[in-house]
Amino acid sequence: MEKNVYVYKCNKYDEALVELAYQEILVKPGLLDFVKEGMKVGIKVNLVGNFNPDKAATTHPILVKVLCKFLIERGAIVTIGDSPGGLFTEGILRSAYKGAGLSVCEEVGAKLNYDVSTSKIKVDKQVVKTLDVSNWLLEQDALINFSKLKSHGMMALSASVKNMFGIVPGVLKPEYHYRYPNHDDFANMLIDLNEVFECKLNLVDAVIGMEGNGPTQGTPRLIGCILASSAPYPLDVVCAKLIDLNIDNVYTITESIKRGKTTTFDELIINESIDDLIIKDYKNILPGKSMEFSEKFKGPIGKIINPIIAKVLTVKPKVKKKECIGCKKCANICPVNAITMKDKKPIINRDKCIRCFCCQEFCPVGAMKAHKNLIVKVLTKSK
Ligand code: SF4
Ligand code: SF4
Repeated sequence: MEKNVYVYKCNKYDEALVELAYQEILVKPGLLDFVKEGMKVGIKVNLVGNFNPDKAATTHPILVKVLCKFLIERGAIVTIGDSPGGLFTEGILRSAYKGAGLSVCEEVGAKLNYDVSTSKIKVDKQVVKTLDVSNWLLEQDALINFSKLKSHGMMALSASVKNMFGIVPGVLKPEYHYRYPNHDDFANMLIDLNEVFECKLNLVDAVIGMEGNGPTQGTPRLIGCILASSAPYPLDVVCAKLIDLNIDNVYTITESIKRGKTTTFDELIINESIDDLIIKDYKNILPGKSMEFSEKFKGPIGKIINPIIAKVLTVKPKVKKKECIGCKKCANICPVNAITMKDKKPIINRDKCIRCFCCQEFCPVGAMKAHKNLIVKVLTKSK
């Protein structure tokens, strides 16, 4: 089990500062020692869609550019890529790279991936037996996972482990929500993906994260650091700590601990204290909190009361009708067809909904929210 996490305090996307950061958290601990002359290295960034870096939805291009520079200086042939949600086409990739500012990486000799071909591969993991993957990943000698710290409607936290969902071609992602509707299974699917594509290096852009209606329509929030580790699992534990998110609410962390991949924050080895970085009023979504409350009553009474409590307390997608532009993207992306349109506004069938929050993630104007009712807000003291 990897317990080492390296943190560098950095509050702006400045190339010189990022170079210093990488000297401290990558070069000194030997995290780039795997790179050999002529090696093909793929950087799997978070490119959730065509978002300007100021939106804090994607891995910041300056961090990726400087990393490319370090890798290329060591003789690597570097390709950057991801599969944004929705259609996986060259045109969509082109506009997403441009929007996210990743074209700057070409200035230092890195390539942006435009291969949209995919393969189905057999794997024998805990929940995943066959896997659809973007071919460019299979062609690399080594992979780097470079995520962005964000709140997430379904998983509470989008950081290192969640980032590997991008290996699944965008158009097939809803199918994976359909296959793994249970949140624990979905988390285990993500862990399986991290096992299949065991990244040599994992980094998190937590200079400016996203709070609130993440992972695409939340609010940028200064966190002030870059994190690195040779494994994704301890990174998520430290990320949760940074945004004061109880790890019991993060399915990927609780399942990673069960699978012996990481441990609690106090048992990790971090190069320096992060006490001064922890944000006590970070706006987290807490999708798992309702499950915690739902197990409060034991025995026969619990059987009756717990489901009612869970239903009341569960965080659900809810449309803000005034903000909705009636584009129907939520209805088209919903993996279980729980959304129908009436008078150009979405209606959600609560009995069908599996709370995957794809509708929230892909709403282009942030009209679909991860909604907590007042009781949840009071109980969790969240905003
Ligand atoms: S309504 Fe939204 S959260 Fe519910 S299943 Fe459909 S896409 Fe997922
Ligand atoms: S995706 Fe958003 S804007 Fe489009 S119909 Fe759904 S809620 Fe409305």
